[in-house]
Amino acid sequence: MSARDLFDLTGKTALVTGSSGGLGLAMARGLAEAGTAVILNGRDEAKLAAAAQALAAAGHQVTTSSFDVSDEAAIMAAFDGFDRAGTNIDILVNNAGIQLRKPMVDLAADEWRRVIETNLTSAFMVGREAARRMIARGQGGKIINIGSLTSEVARATVAPYTAAKGGIKQLTRSMAAEWAVHGIQANAIGPGYIVTDMNKALVEDAKFDAWVRGRTPSGRWGMPDDLIGVAVFLASPASAYVNGQIIYVDGGMLAVL
Ligand code: NDP
Repeated sequence: MSARDLFDLTGKTALVTGSSGGLGLAMARGLAEAGTAVILNGRDEAKLAAAAQALAAAGHQVTTSSFDVSDEAAIMAAFDGFDRAGTNIDILVNNAGIQLRKPMVDLAADEWRRVIETNLTSAFMVGREAARRMIARGQGGKIINIGSLTSEVARATVAPYTAAKGGIKQLTRSMAAEWAVHGIQANAIGPGYIVTDMNKALVEDAKFDAWVRGRTPSGRWGMPDDLIGVAVFLASPASAYVNGQIIYVDGGMLAVL
Protein backbone atom coordinates (compact mmCIF):
# COMPACT_ATOMS: atom_id res chain seq x y z
CA MET A 1 0.00 0.00 0.00
CA SER A 2 1.38 3.42 -0.90
CA ALA A 3 1.85 6.00 1.81
CA ARG A 4 -1.02 7.99 0.33
CA ASP A 5 -3.34 4.95 0.47
CA LEU A 6 -2.34 4.34 4.09
CA PHE A 7 -4.25 7.47 5.07
CA ASP A 8 -7.18 7.12 2.65
CA LEU A 9 -10.54 6.64 4.37
CA THR A 10 -12.74 6.73 1.28
CA GLY A 11 -15.92 4.68 1.68
CA LYS A 12 -15.70 4.48 5.50
CA THR A 13 -18.27 5.83 7.94
CA ALA A 14 -17.24 7.49 11.20
CA LEU A 15 -19.40 8.25 14.22
CA VAL A 16 -17.87 11.01 16.36
CA THR A 17 -19.63 11.60 19.68
CA GLY A 18 -19.76 15.16 21.00
CA SER A 19 -19.03 16.60 17.58
CA SER A 20 -21.33 19.62 17.47
CA GLY A 21 -18.30 21.73 18.42
CA GLY A 22 -14.79 21.70 19.88
CA LEU A 23 -12.41 18.80 19.30
CA GLY A 24 -15.15 16.47 18.07
CA LEU A 25 -16.16 18.75 15.20
CA ALA A 26 -12.52 19.33 14.18
CA MET A 27 -11.83 15.58 14.15
CA ALA A 28 -15.06 14.89 12.24
CA ARG A 29 -14.03 17.45 9.63
CA GLY A 30 -10.56 15.90 9.38
CA LEU A 31 -11.99 12.41 8.95
CA ALA A 32 -14.39 13.70 6.30
CA GLU A 33 -11.49 15.36 4.47
CA ALA A 34 -9.74 11.98 4.49
CA GLY A 35 -12.79 10.47 2.80
CA THR A 36 -15.26 9.24 5.43
CA ALA A 37 -18.94 9.90 5.69
CA VAL A 38 -19.42 11.33 9.18
CA ILE A 39 -22.21 11.06 11.73
CA LEU A 40 -22.18 14.00 14.12
CA ASN A 41 -23.54 13.62 17.66
CA GLY A 42 -24.44 15.87 20.58
CA ARG A 43 -27.46 16.70 22.74
CA ASP A 44 -28.33 20.19 21.46
CA GLU A 45 -30.04 19.57 18.11
CA ALA A 46 -29.76 23.17 16.90
CA LYS A 47 -25.99 23.21 17.53
CA LEU A 48 -25.73 19.82 15.82
CA ALA A 49 -27.68 20.98 12.75
CA ALA A 50 -25.45 24.06 12.39
CA ALA A 51 -22.30 21.91 12.58
CA ALA A 52 -23.68 19.47 10.01
CA GLN A 53 -24.62 22.32 7.69
CA ALA A 54 -21.06 23.68 7.83
CA LEU A 55 -19.57 20.30 6.88
CA ALA A 56 -22.16 19.70 4.15
CA ALA A 57 -21.45 23.16 2.71
CA ALA A 58 -17.80 22.11 2.40
CA GLY A 59 -18.93 19.13 0.32
CA HIS A 60 -18.73 16.43 2.97
CA GLN A 61 -21.16 13.55 3.45
CA VAL A 62 -22.66 14.22 6.87
CA THR A 63 -25.64 13.10 8.95
CA THR A 64 -26.55 13.70 12.59
CA SER A 65 -27.63 11.46 15.43
CA SER A 66 -28.61 13.30 18.58
CA PHE A 67 -28.38 11.24 21.76
CA ASP A 68 -26.98 11.58 25.27
CA VAL A 69 -23.92 9.32 25.52
CA SER A 70 -24.63 8.65 29.20
CA ASP A 71 -28.10 7.24 28.42
CA GLU A 72 -27.91 3.54 27.57
CA ALA A 73 -31.44 3.32 26.15
CA ALA A 74 -30.81 6.32 23.89
CA ILE A 75 -27.56 4.77 22.63
CA MET A 76 -29.31 1.46 21.86
CA ALA A 77 -32.09 3.33 20.03
CA ALA A 78 -29.53 5.29 17.97
CA PHE A 79 -27.71 2.11 16.93
CA ASP A 80 -31.03 0.42 16.09
CA GLY A 81 -31.65 3.41 13.83
CA PHE A 82 -28.24 2.92 12.14
CA ASP A 83 -29.13 -0.77 11.60
CA ARG A 84 -32.49 0.11 10.07
CA ALA A 85 -30.84 2.62 7.74
CA GLY A 86 -28.17 0.08 6.75
CA THR A 87 -25.43 2.31 8.17
CA ASN A 88 -22.27 0.49 9.27
CA ILE A 89 -19.91 2.30 11.60
CA ASP A 90 -16.29 1.61 10.59
CA ILE A 91 -14.73 4.22 12.87
CA LEU A 92 -15.97 5.33 16.28
CA VAL A 93 -14.52 8.32 18.09
CA ASN A 94 -15.66 8.39 21.72
CA ASN A 95 -15.11 12.10 22.27
CA ALA A 96 -18.14 13.50 24.16
CA GLY A 97 -17.19 14.70 27.60
CA ILE A 98 -17.85 17.25 30.30
CA GLN A 99 -15.69 18.98 32.86
CA LEU A 100 -16.59 19.89 36.44
CA ARG A 101 -14.20 21.90 38.59
CA LYS A 102 -14.92 21.51 42.30
CA PRO A 103 -12.91 20.56 45.39
CA MET A 104 -13.59 16.93 46.32
CA VAL A 105 -14.81 17.86 49.80
CA ASP A 106 -17.65 19.83 48.20
CA LEU A 107 -18.50 17.24 45.57
CA ALA A 108 -21.86 15.42 45.70
CA ALA A 109 -21.97 11.76 44.72
CA ASP A 110 -24.43 12.61 41.95
CA GLU A 111 -21.94 15.09 40.46
CA TRP A 112 -19.22 12.42 40.64
CA ARG A 113 -21.48 9.92 38.89
CA ARG A 114 -22.51 12.38 36.18
CA VAL A 115 -18.89 13.06 35.20
CA ILE A 116 -17.91 9.37 35.30
CA GLU A 117 -20.98 8.34 33.30
CA THR A 118 -20.54 11.03 30.64
CA ASN A 119 -16.76 10.67 30.24
CA LEU A 120 -16.12 6.96 30.87
CA THR A 121 -19.22 4.74 31.03
CA SER A 122 -20.32 6.36 27.76
CA ALA A 123 -17.20 5.15 25.95
CA PHE A 124 -17.85 1.60 27.18
CA MET A 125 -21.54 1.70 26.16
CA VAL A 126 -21.12 3.32 22.73
CA GLY A 127 -17.98 1.22 22.14
CA ARG A 128 -19.85 -1.96 23.01
CA GLU A 129 -22.69 -1.22 20.56
CA ALA A 130 -20.23 -0.36 17.79
CA ALA A 131 -18.07 -3.42 18.48
CA ARG A 132 -21.04 -5.81 18.57
CA ARG A 133 -21.86 -4.75 15.01
CA MET A 134 -18.24 -4.67 13.81
CA ILE A 135 -17.80 -8.23 15.10
CA ALA A 136 -21.03 -9.43 13.45
CA ARG A 137 -19.99 -7.85 10.15
CA GLY A 138 -16.50 -9.35 10.27
CA GLN A 139 -14.64 -6.43 8.71
CA GLY A 140 -12.93 -5.05 11.80
CA GLY A 141 -13.05 -1.41 12.79
CA LYS A 142 -11.30 1.41 14.59
CA ILE A 143 -12.19 2.85 17.97
CA ILE A 144 -10.57 6.05 19.19
CA ASN A 145 -11.25 7.11 22.77
CA ILE A 146 -10.47 10.63 23.90
CA GLY A 147 -8.47 10.73 27.10
CA SER A 148 -6.58 13.70 28.49
CA LEU A 149 -3.36 14.71 30.20
CA THR A 150 -5.32 13.58 33.27
CA SER A 151 -5.17 10.01 31.92
CA GLU A 152 -1.59 10.29 33.19
CA VAL A 153 -1.36 13.01 35.85
CA ALA A 154 -3.68 14.57 38.42
CA ARG A 155 -4.52 18.17 39.19
CA ALA A 156 -6.60 19.58 42.03
CA THR A 157 -10.39 20.17 41.68
CA VAL A 158 -11.01 17.76 38.79
CA ALA A 159 -11.13 14.40 40.61
CA PRO A 160 -14.00 12.65 38.78
CA TYR A 161 -12.73 13.90 35.41
CA THR A 162 -9.25 12.58 36.24
CA ALA A 163 -10.65 9.24 37.41
CA ALA A 164 -12.70 8.97 34.21
CA LYS A 165 -9.80 9.86 31.93
CA GLY A 166 -7.47 7.46 33.75
CA GLY A 167 -10.22 4.89 33.16
CA ILE A 168 -10.27 5.74 29.44
CA LYS A 169 -6.64 4.64 29.18
CA GLN A 170 -7.39 1.24 30.74
CA LEU A 171 -10.72 0.85 28.91
CA THR A 172 -8.81 1.40 25.65
CA ARG A 173 -6.35 -1.36 26.58
CA SER A 174 -9.25 -3.66 27.54
CA MET A 175 -10.98 -3.02 24.20
CA ALA A 176 -7.72 -3.78 22.37
CA ALA A 177 -7.17 -6.95 24.40
CA GLU A 178 -10.67 -8.26 23.82
CA TRP A 179 -11.45 -7.16 20.28
CA ALA A 180 -8.11 -7.36 18.38
CA VAL A 181 -9.02 -10.93 17.45
CA HIS A 182 -11.95 -9.46 15.51
CA GLY A 183 -9.75 -6.98 13.64
CA ILE A 184 -10.86 -4.09 15.84
CA GLN A 185 -8.20 -1.66 17.02
CA ALA A 186 -8.77 0.60 20.00
CA ASN A 187 -6.47 3.50 20.71
CA ALA A 188 -6.76 6.76 22.59
CA ILE A 189 -5.73 10.37 22.16
CA GLY A 190 -4.73 12.43 25.18
CA PRO A 191 -5.11 16.11 24.35
CA GLY A 192 -3.28 18.74 26.38
CA TYR A 193 -4.80 22.19 26.96
CA ILE A 194 -6.85 22.99 23.85
CA VAL A 195 -8.90 26.14 23.15
CA THR A 196 -12.56 25.03 23.13
CA ASP A 197 -15.78 26.00 24.91
CA MET A 198 -14.85 23.57 27.70
CA ASN A 199 -11.82 25.72 28.54
CA LYS A 200 -13.31 29.15 27.84
CA ALA A 201 -13.00 30.33 31.44
CA LEU A 202 -9.41 29.07 31.68
CA VAL A 203 -8.33 30.73 28.42
CA GLU A 204 -9.79 34.01 29.69
CA ASP A 205 -8.06 33.69 33.08
CA ALA A 206 -4.78 35.58 32.57
CA LYS A 207 -2.98 33.66 35.34
CA PHE A 208 -4.05 30.27 34.02
CA ASP A 209 -3.27 31.29 30.45
CA ALA A 210 0.25 32.29 31.48
CA TRP A 211 0.67 28.98 33.33
CA VAL A 212 -0.31 26.96 30.24
CA ARG A 213 2.00 28.93 27.95
CA GLY A 214 4.84 28.76 30.44
CA ARG A 215 4.54 25.02 31.16
CA THR A 216 4.00 23.87 27.58
CA PRO A 217 7.28 23.43 25.68
CA SER A 218 5.49 24.54 22.49
CA GLY A 219 4.63 27.78 24.34
CA ARG A 220 0.99 27.91 23.29
CA TRP A 221 -2.43 26.39 23.82
CA GLY A 222 -3.44 23.64 21.42
CA MET A 223 -6.12 24.30 18.79
CA PRO A 224 -8.82 21.75 17.85
CA ASP A 225 -7.18 21.22 14.44
CA ASP A 226 -4.05 19.97 16.23
CA LEU A 227 -5.96 16.73 16.90
CA ILE A 228 -6.74 15.95 13.27
CA GLY A 229 -3.46 14.32 12.24
CA VAL A 230 -3.47 11.76 15.04
CA ALA A 231 -7.21 11.09 14.65
CA VAL A 232 -6.82 10.35 10.92
CA PHE A 233 -3.74 8.22 11.62
CA LEU A 234 -5.55 6.12 14.23
CA ALA A 235 -8.61 5.76 11.97
CA SER A 236 -6.60 4.71 8.93
CA PRO A 237 -4.68 1.67 7.64
CA ALA A 238 -1.48 3.58 8.58
CA SER A 239 -2.03 2.48 12.19
CA ALA A 240 -2.74 -1.18 11.32
CA TYR A 241 -0.33 -2.54 13.97
CA VAL A 242 -0.97 0.09 16.67
CA ASN A 243 -3.33 -1.14 19.36
CA GLY A 244 -4.16 -0.24 22.96
CA GLN A 245 -2.06 2.93 22.90
CA ILE A 246 -2.71 6.46 24.09
CA ILE A 247 -1.02 9.20 22.05
CA TYR A 248 -0.69 12.55 23.79
CA VAL A 249 -1.21 15.71 21.73
CA ASP A 250 -0.06 18.25 24.28
CA GLY A 251 2.70 20.42 22.84
CA GLY A 252 5.15 18.45 24.97
CA MET A 253 3.60 19.31 28.33
CA LEU A 254 3.67 15.78 29.76
CA ALA A 255 7.34 15.51 28.97
CA VAL A 256 8.12 18.26 31.46
CA LEU A 257 5.30 18.14 34.04
P1 NDP B 1 -16.65 21.02 24.30
O1 NDP B 1 -17.35 21.34 25.56
O2 NDP B 1 -16.15 22.11 23.44
O3 NDP B 1 -17.56 20.05 23.40
C1 NDP B 1 -18.15 18.93 23.97
C2 NDP B 1 -19.01 18.25 22.97
O4 NDP B 1 -19.59 17.10 23.59
C3 NDP B 1 -20.16 19.09 22.48
O5 NDP B 1 -20.43 18.76 21.13
C4 NDP B 1 -21.31 18.67 23.38
O6 NDP B 1 -22.56 18.94 22.76
C5 NDP B 1 -21.01 17.19 23.52
N1 NDP B 1 -21.56 16.53 24.70
C6 NDP B 1 -21.38 16.86 26.00
N2 NDP B 1 -22.04 16.02 26.79
C7 NDP B 1 -22.64 15.12 25.99
C8 NDP B 1 -23.51 14.02 26.21
N3 NDP B 1 -23.86 13.65 27.44
N4 NDP B 1 -23.96 13.32 25.15
C9 NDP B 1 -23.63 13.68 23.89
N5 NDP B 1 -22.82 14.72 23.62
C10 NDP B 1 -22.35 15.44 24.65
O7 NDP B 1 -15.45 20.06 24.74
P2 NDP B 1 -14.05 19.76 24.04
O8 NDP B 1 -14.20 19.74 22.58
O9 NDP B 1 -13.03 20.59 24.67
O10 NDP B 1 -13.80 18.26 24.58
C11 NDP B 1 -14.02 17.11 23.79
C12 NDP B 1 -13.35 15.93 24.48
O11 NDP B 1 -11.96 16.18 24.61
C13 NDP B 1 -13.88 15.65 25.89
O12 NDP B 1 -13.89 14.26 26.12
C14 NDP B 1 -12.83 16.30 26.75
O13 NDP B 1 -12.77 15.73 28.03
C15 NDP B 1 -11.58 16.02 25.95
N6 NDP B 1 -10.45 16.87 26.27
C16 NDP B 1 -10.52 18.21 26.02
C17 NDP B 1 -9.43 19.00 26.32
C18 NDP B 1 -9.39 20.45 26.06
O14 NDP B 1 -8.42 21.10 26.46
N7 NDP B 1 -10.40 21.04 25.43
C19 NDP B 1 -8.20 18.43 26.94
C20 NDP B 1 -8.28 17.02 27.15
C21 NDP B 1 -9.35 16.29 26.82
P3 NDP B 1 -23.95 19.10 23.61
O15 NDP B 1 -23.62 19.97 24.76
O16 NDP B 1 -24.91 19.65 22.64
O17 NDP B 1 -24.31 17.72 24.03
